[in-house]
Amino acid sequence: MGQDTSSAGTSPHNSAEASVLICNICSERFIGDYRKRNLSRHRLSLHGNSEPVVCEVLGCQRSYKRSDALKVHLRKAHPNTVSPPVPRKNAAGDSRGKKRQCASV
Ligand SMILES: [Zn+2]
Ligand SMILES: [Zn+2]
Repeated sequence: MGQDTSSAGTSPHNSAEASVLICNICSERFIGDYRKRNLSRHRLSLHGNSEPVVCEVLGCQRSYKRSDALKVHLRKAHPNTVSPPVPRKNAAGDSRGKKRQCASV
């Protein structure tokens, strides 16, 4: 009968998994000592550190930091959701669109 008082093997340090930072925009997880810095850097580079615009299509929800990028994405990824611009008829007559006909004969 022995007395096992201490069983070495496990690291004394607490695992860093207890504190996980998650990007609230893309759900990227950050752990480790520099998770805070990494997250802020990640948000700055990927999300512009500002309010993102999110694709509202179900199942997509891609986020972009510029509405222009979202528009391009919409056109490429969801062409069906974007209705093509309807050509408007110009009811107004052209007031200054006088064509000059040069009859040079
Ligand atoms: Zn992110
Ligand atoms: Zn989308």
